[in-house]
Amino acid sequence: MALINENYFKLKAGYLFPEIGRRVKEFSDSNPDRKIIRMGIGDVTQPLVSSVLKAFHEGVDELGKAETFKGYGPEQGYAFLREAIAKNDYQNRGINISADDIFISDGSKCDTGNIQEIFGFNNKVAICDPVYPVYADTTVMSGKTGKSSEIGYFEGIIYMPCTEENHFVPELPKQKADLIFLCYPNNPTGTVATKEELKKWVDYAIENKSIILYDAAYEAFIVDESIPRSIYEIEGAEKVAIEFRSFSKTAGFTGTRCAFTVVPGSLVAFDADGKEHPVKPLWNRRQSTKFNGVSYPVQKAAAAIYTEEGKKEVKKIINYYLENASIMKQKLLEAGFTVFGGENAPYVWVKTKNNMSSWDFFDKILKEAGVVGTPGSGFGPSGEGYFRFSAFADRENVIEAMNKIQKLFQ
Ligand SMILES: *Cc1c(COP(=O)(O)O)cnc(C)c1O
Repeated sequence: MALINENYFKLKAGYLFPEIGRRVKEFSDSNPDRKIIRMGIGDVTQPLVSSVLKAFHEGVDELGKAETFKGYGPEQGYAFLREAIAKNDYQNRGINISADDIFISDGSKCDTGNIQEIFGFNNKVAICDPVYPVYADTTVMSGKTGKSSEIGYFEGIIYMPCTEENHFVPELPKQKADLIFLCYPNNPTGTVATKEELKKWVDYAIENKSIILYDAAYEAFIVDESIPRSIYEIEGAEKVAIEFRSFSKTAGFTGTRCAFTVVPGSLVAFDADGKEHPVKPLWNRRQSTKFNGVSYPVQKAAAAIYTEEGKKEVKKIINYYLENASIMKQKLLEAGFTVFGGENAPYVWVKTKNNMSSWDFFDKILKEAGVVGTPGSGFGPSGEGYFRFSAFADRENVIEAMNKIQKLFQ
């Protein structure tokens, strides 16, 4: 008899985006001539930049010639890309990460989920609320939790509310957490963590022998020099943190697929007897066994981001999205909203007015302004009463949507 992994039954059905889709469809079916502006999902809208495209094409052409054909590549990624990352993202910023610590993959979503399997079942996992849903769902799938409560909290997970009071950076948990997911710049709140705030977490991890799983998918949006772009800017972090980065939002690779995970050689975890073991060989073993690398043309395209031209082109697109965010923030402030994020991040996190629920606000701006955003409550109970607008949209639409919302709430 084939038994299934019953942990999957504990998961709630994918609810947020299907429900948004359902409500938008219902509205557009009954109002076919109304324009709808979508600022809901976290997917990029600008095309690949020309240096990336050129390298991508070259990579494809190389595969078509006997002299330059390539079969399986290294599971950890090609050296040219790992070295470009180590040099540009870390060493040039004074961070001691080597090419050998970098593992190229097809996405941070996959990596933040897959990383769970190299850690034991008895780890206590700490997760922010509101949050990117992947961390909690993969913790459930891997069998580390009990059932879900009424409000959607799983037994066994330590939830860390991120609120206006704590500036959306959680307080250290009172319970001892072994694995801690943090994401800055944050999705969904668009907020960032300062060096001091991250240092608290690194110190906590050192003291408790925990590991921080740091999702820096939006690192490229940081323009404020004082905000850390990597957890490894904090002293001691290389002993207690894994960092996830992705080219998805940095360079429009959501459809192309390329990301990387940093597992420093000095990072350790413990066996049941309390004996220390390096983590890197386990991740290397996992990837070598279950993953066969990212395609050569894609890695070549990703490496082009680190050329002088590539850097300039990519920065221009990041700035375009950041300007969108800034316009959104400004217009929402003018309309009297309390607004968070929207600087150093592509998301704006808005408090609804008059204690309106996230879904009521969603329905109001859909029906009365034709604008789609994401209800904050969909990211966790602490997101109730908030709303996320994504800056991944075209400028004209951003301006039109914000003008309509201003009018609505004047
Ligand atoms: C978009 C996003 C990612 C990137 O995922 P990919 O699989 O690399 O496309 C990772 N983390 C968060 C929080 C995100 O919003």
